[in-house]
Amino acid sequence: MISYQLRQREYLLQISRAMTSRLDLPSLLRLILTSAAEIVRAEAGLIALRRGQADSLVIHASYGIPVSMLPRFAPLLADFPLRAAEYAIPDLQARLNLVARAIRLPLHQVIALPLTFEERLLGVIYLFRSGSSAFSANDENVLASFADQVAIAVRNAQLYQQVNAEKQQLDAIIEHSADGVMILDPDLRIQVFNRALSQMTGWPAEQAIGRQCYQVLALEKTSGRNLCGADPAAAHFDGEAPLIVEGELARPGGSRIAVSVTFSPLYDEEGRLSHVIANVVDITRFREAEEMKSTFVSVVSHELKTPVSLIKGYASTLAREDAHWDSDTVREGLQVINEESDRLDALINNLLDASRIQSGGFRLERGDVNVVRLAEKVVESFRIQTDRHHFVPDFLDDFPTVYGDEERLRQVFNNLIGNAIKYAPQGGEIRVGGWHAADNVTLYVADQGIGIPLDEQGKLFQRFYRVDSSLRRSTQGAGLGLYLCWSIIKAHGGRIWLHSEPGKGTTVFFTLPVEA
Ligand code: ATP
Ligand code: MG
Repeated sequence: MISYQLRQREYLLQISRAMTSRLDLPSLLRLILTSAAEIVRAEAGLIALRRGQADSLVIHASYGIPVSMLPRFAPLLADFPLRAAEYAIPDLQARLNLVARAIRLPLHQVIALPLTFEERLLGVIYLFRSGSSAFSANDENVLASFADQVAIAVRNAQLYQQVNAEKQQLDAIIEHSADGVMILDPDLRIQVFNRALSQMTGWPAEQAIGRQCYQVLALEKTSGRNLCGADPAAAHFDGEAPLIVEGELARPGGSRIAVSVTFSPLYDEEGRLSHVIANVVDITRFREAEEMKSTFVSVVSHELKTPVSLIKGYASTLAREDAHWDSDTVREGLQVINEESDRLDALINNLLDASRIQSGGFRLERGDVNVVRLAEKVVESFRIQTDRHHFVPDFLDDFPTVYGDEERLRQVFNNLIGNAIKYAPQGGEIRVGGWHAADNVTLYVADQGIGIPLDEQGKLFQRFYRVDSSLRRSTQGAGLGLYLCWSIIKAHGGRIWLHSEPGKGTTVFFTLPVEA
């Protein structure tokens, strides 16, 4: 008997060692349960743990009992006391008899071992025997001496699990944040690099981690205090205050984005910098919107002011009571007023169209359009405005009608031919023509004007974009015409592009579908 107890103690010691090195809760519980069962020669057992702060128990591990039967053990887990000091499960044996009969398992003896930690019950280990020999006082003692160790091991594993779960949550939040996030060590080496930042910079996380942050987040044209600049001494933390920098980031494809970076310091208990959290936000759209707003204001004020001051000037001159104008002067003045109000009207319409396109409220009213006639009519309306330009129609025979919105397409011709005149101040030939394929037509307007530098050609279809040249200052325009053309052609399912050589001329092409 003594040697059996000795063996029990030795065995306990071994298990304690094994337990303390395990942090994975399920495997720890399995180890505890099989060991406890072995120590007191029990054939079956359960470990039930408290669910959080609640006073109910949930089975976490079982031994010698088919898993499908575990729910039937609920009566054993009921009436669970909150405080360790009150621990007792009344009528335990009677409850077991009830369960055993119901599930037809020969479980006759039961012993319940509370697991307590700092006065709190963490859970209970139940052990069962099938025979008639009840658990002895010695069994109970041995188990009791084992219980404290078990409780500590379980508590550690639970804490570890909790910390792990929290870390996973945090990792997931950082990884899936829409903003770029990176965590730096005090030497500004990257430790964490999230997905959004990979997308912004083109650096895969595994390549970015371990590098100095200035290598990965190489900002140009910075303003503010850049901790990731080539010269880190240029920025340092002063207490808790974050450092903020704005700049441009060159991306792998050659495009650029504007970003704002906020560096926040984290200090350890001794007040030493332990980490830096960098939050990177793409502010390209914000900047574009800002620029757009200021361009809008300057363009609109400039373009509106000119006609308004002309109208005002002529109107007040003609209205002077002391003057007697001859009829020619009056007609001339009224003509200017008429033309300038047309210009105002056109500008306001363009602005309204542009804002309609922006808000998605742009609808086409389609029908069959004879584009050859439409082009001729627009040319006619321009012919009287210029004697320097020579118009040449150039359409292939049997030109099909297109399925489109006639008014919108008139707008397209109006702007393209208007541009051809405006940007060919010396005059020359203006060709308007087209050819057709099976399901679409290609139309073009070609001039012999000043042309467009290659690096500007891609930007002309943006709102308010005008090429900066001496002609820009001397011609009127809001930079909306090509944007509207582009939007109208796109809405028709067509394409618009241009071919231009500075000093030689420009041809703008667009396609339209022939049928619905
Ligand atoms: P708006 O059409 O709003 O009155 P705009 O003519 O300046 O003003 P767009 O028609 O959008 O605006 O043209 C944008 C810019 O593209 C022009 O300012 C001009 O610099 C350039 N551009 C357009 N067409 C030509 C052309 N045929 N030749 C040379 N430059 C052109
Ligand atoms: Mg124009």
